[in-house]
Amino acid sequence: MNMPSETIRQHLIDPELCIRCNTCEETCPVDAISNDGRNYVVDPALCDGCRSCVDPCPTGAINIWLPVAGSQVYSRDEQFRWDSLPEPDVGATPLLLDDSQGGRGQAGAVVENLFSLRHPALATLSVNIRLTTPNSGVDIHHIVLDLSTQHFPFLEGQSVGIVPPGLDEHGKPHSMRLYSVASSRGGEAGESGQLALTVKRVVDDHQGQERPGVCSNYLCSLAPGSEVRVVGPFGVDFLMPVETVPIVMICTGTGIAPMRAILQRLQVIGQADAGRLLLFYGGRSLEALAYREELHKLQESHALDLELALSRQPGQPRRYVQDALEERHDVLTRLLAEGRVHLYLCGLKGMEQGVFEALQSLCARRGLDWDALRRAMAEQSRLHVETY
Ligand code: NAP
Repeated sequence: MNMPSETIRQHLIDPELCIRCNTCEETCPVDAISNDGRNYVVDPALCDGCRSCVDPCPTGAINIWLPVAGSQVYSRDEQFRWDSLPEPDVGATPLLLDDSQGGRGQAGAVVENLFSLRHPALATLSVNIRLTTPNSGVDIHHIVLDLSTQHFPFLEGQSVGIVPPGLDEHGKPHSMRLYSVASSRGGEAGESGQLALTVKRVVDDHQGQERPGVCSNYLCSLAPGSEVRVVGPFGVDFLMPVETVPIVMICTGTGIAPMRAILQRLQVIGQADAGRLLLFYGGRSLEALAYREELHKLQESHALDLELALSRQPGQPRRYVQDALEERHDVLTRLLAEGRVHLYLCGLKGMEQGVFEALQSLCARRGLDWDALRRAMAEQSRLHVETY
């Protein structure tokens, strides 16, 4: 492709960084984004460059603005066939990661995208422990990766990509899978360069059909000493507040991972205080919860106000995190009305609606306008959502 003076910046999605979470397609207000079951692409005829999709993307895969000749934009069909982005023309500005609008909250000096798929960090698996009992029906592992031989900085709330070895059913290398960091910046157990993940072994698909997850089974079965390819770190939308403010964390299942990282950090800096630190944690049973002993210890030492929501207790009605929120309406409405609280939501996509409905309902009982509060929280980067 030659690059005449009339060059435009075409909005594209990097198929190597995309984790196919569908967030962009759901977010796009003009339906410019679609997928063929393999790639997510941007229709150049529809995209108006509004950037609504950019911040919600967990890996930055969508923040690509490639200089192309105006007459040679890449069509949807071409993009569907890509395994990686095309190289920019010699002499053209390379791939642009556009941060012209700022707006990524507390990004500041945060490091993102240091290691790419082409140049991943090589970690050594140092710990692989099953956290849940065999009779729980859930196989969740605490995995620690030793990255101490390279400079791989990360912050609480960021994620990393893991690249499983081997090829997919199309004969292509497996795409990376994204996991939240579950340890604080100082490293797991205070050991620098040790990065923890919380991984659930996936055994079936969303319809309940047996379909083992490629990356989760790879990681959960991996022996200590094995090499693991790590990409990232990614994300600035789930970072901790810089100021000392109340924090409410709401999570289901392995959505506990970033909350654990935040809790570790608050302990290190002496700010873990049940008076302004609440965690609502949903799982099927006590045995299916990750890290329940360490959470219990935090609760006992008044470092954390912990509410568990167990959905499958024999003889008990189903309890979800949103039910626990309703029960704690007093403290929640007080914190929301004060206007400083940061709300973190992580886990199943399906929980979002129920959680926001519960917050709306408990606010209404106190004469608070949840929609206005939610808008203000989003504008002030106090609402952090990471659900899949
Ligand atoms: P899970 O075990 O399937 O569910 C956890 C709990 O949530 C269960 O008690 C479940 O109840 C309940 N639940 C189901 N639907 C709900 C709803 N609509 N509202 C509220 N609660 C609901 O969870 P999981 O398999 O661990 O899933 C965790 C999710 O977190 C995944 O989607 C994962 O992608 C995401 N995530 C993981 C990480 C990570 O680093 N590993 C990071 C960020 C996000 P019932 O099953 O009894 O209905």
